[in-house]
Amino acid sequence: FNHRPTFSNLVLLVGAASSGGLVAYADSKSDDVADKPQGPRKKKVVVLGTGWGGTTFLRNLDSRLYDVQVVSPRNYFAFTPLLPSVTCGTVEPRSVVEPIRRILEKKGGDIKFWEAECFKIDSANKKIHCRSNIGTNLDGDGEFLVDYDYLVVAVGARSNTFNTPGVVENCHFLKEVEDAQKIRRSVMDCFERASLPYLNEEERKNSLHFVVVGGGPTGVEFAAELHDFVTEDLSKLYPSIQHLVKISLVEAADHILTMFDKRITKFAEEKFVRDGINVKTGYKVVKVSKDAITMQNPATGDVAVPYGMAVWSTGIGTRPFVVEFMKQIGQGNRRVLATDEWLRVLECDGVYAVGDCATINQRRVMEDISEIFRVADKDNSGTLTVKEIQDVLDDIYVRYPQVELYLKSRQMNGIADLVRTSKGDAEKESIELNIEEFKKALSLVDSQVKNLPATAQVAAQQGQYLARCFNKMKDAEENPEGPIRIRGEGRHRFRPFRYRHLGQFAPLGGEQTAAQLPGDWISIGHSSQWLWYSVYATKQISWRTRALVISDWSRRFVFGRDSSCI
Ligand code: FAD
Repeated sequence: FNHRPTFSNLVLLVGAASSGGLVAYADSKSDDVADKPQGPRKKKVVVLGTGWGGTTFLRNLDSRLYDVQVVSPRNYFAFTPLLPSVTCGTVEPRSVVEPIRRILEKKGGDIKFWEAECFKIDSANKKIHCRSNIGTNLDGDGEFLVDYDYLVVAVGARSNTFNTPGVVENCHFLKEVEDAQKIRRSVMDCFERASLPYLNEEERKNSLHFVVVGGGPTGVEFAAELHDFVTEDLSKLYPSIQHLVKISLVEAADHILTMFDKRITKFAEEKFVRDGINVKTGYKVVKVSKDAITMQNPATGDVAVPYGMAVWSTGIGTRPFVVEFMKQIGQGNRRVLATDEWLRVLECDGVYAVGDCATINQRRVMEDISEIFRVADKDNSGTLTVKEIQDVLDDIYVRYPQVELYLKSRQMNGIADLVRTSKGDAEKESIELNIEEFKKALSLVDSQVKNLPATAQVAAQQGQYLARCFNKMKDAEENPEGPIRIRGEGRHRFRPFRYRHLGQFAPLGGEQTAAQLPGDWISIGHSSQWLWYSVYATKQISWRTRALVISDWSRRFVFGRDSSCI
């Protein structure tokens, strides 16, 4: 065992009889404080992940109250919304990351960080199994155990290939900072390859065909960035081949940006067509080989298209060790970890989950909605008047903004519209609706309401909410009937988590952005681009990254983007 200073508090438990080997134990009590008088033992909080959920939790947690340890394979926080800008050199990689130790140092508390990945959660014994790939223990496998009283799982998600053959081997993903760096190098390699003297015109063309698979916000933003990079910078440096460049955006659905308002979708599609980006909607990629991407369309059948570089951005999937954990706790049939509205993993004591790896269980949502109905139906008649239903609906909207978002996105704002989805003949006025019918309509809506979107916004709000609960946990335990106890028997002490949607952006290139803000406020164009700059500068995690990002943007305006292959 290499007794490195950073791991000086690793206590070796020799003779772990079951394995017959040596198990390293990450104990948060370091040697130098062992002799000092100890107060009552603080509860151990272990945080998995240093992304949006984990970092926001840590920043808001009162770390004096707990013995906190953080485990993550990356020792920095990455500002993911700017990753598409990193792919083309608009922003440098170091400008979008902040070392986690710097963030923890600012907390002033004694928080431990282990650069390692968790590969198993043993919730029965409240331990996690971790593996470091930079340091080794006596066994040489870098494995160690960490025990916890509370575990916060914030490990995000991985890219989802939907088992499409050849994707892992031949496509780039855009999930991590390293991915963005690889894409940047690969774009430049395609241009340099296409400039080589021994290639024919067809080969040059193929090398300069960039395919983006997935018409969601990430795919669209990358396609727009790449188009700007080519037209504003590379066309001047590679004048003889610039006419051969082709960017294709492939989407299986009928439109791109389907999670945005229809006006934004339409504007984006029309702008891309004007810009010469080849938007191929209704095409599903079924295979990727070294030289060609095969797409399927009901009208054309299979089409194989040669390409130079492909970026796969079709969605996210669950990390394998989380899948194993879900099987262990009886959630094997789910897609992501299910929590209740207090972000506690269902049927699992002391484990919480936030961000992309978790979802709030919809069954509980329906239970809550039923409760709202029960309360509204004061005379127990089983029917509600239109006015009462409007009140119920208002209450549901406040508690579940995603229901309102869903209805609005389908232009179903009023009661009559909603009921028509289940009854077909409801009149707008003077109807007294059967409560069961209305519930049916709502459950129909509910089953279609997607889980909270997998966004930084959701992860950060969940991290902040959970930290606030943790900060009040001791108080609440000591005063269980106090003012924060808002519900009756059997309910948790805190208000449930409520997501507040603050709007979303879709940068479309050429200094134009589409913004969809709360209250159905849509803005598209140059002014929204400046709003985008201001919001993302403000949202930076530190003054250092804020200064770096703003200076990168200014550098790009003055000198253009850097096209070196480093
Ligand atoms: P992450 O931020 O992904 O963090 C996961 C953390 O867990 C990482 O630190 C990782 O290293 C760590 N980890 C992984 N495996 C393990 C393990 N085994 N053990 C311990 N730790 C582990 N959202 C927006 O709201 N707006 C945007 O504009 C936006 N743009 C985006 C652009 C791109 C290119 C991408 C990829 C995402 C974008 N998102 C955006 C989505 C947003 O980044 C995610 O929803 C958000 O990162 C989720 O936060 P998280 O904490 O759940 O996971």
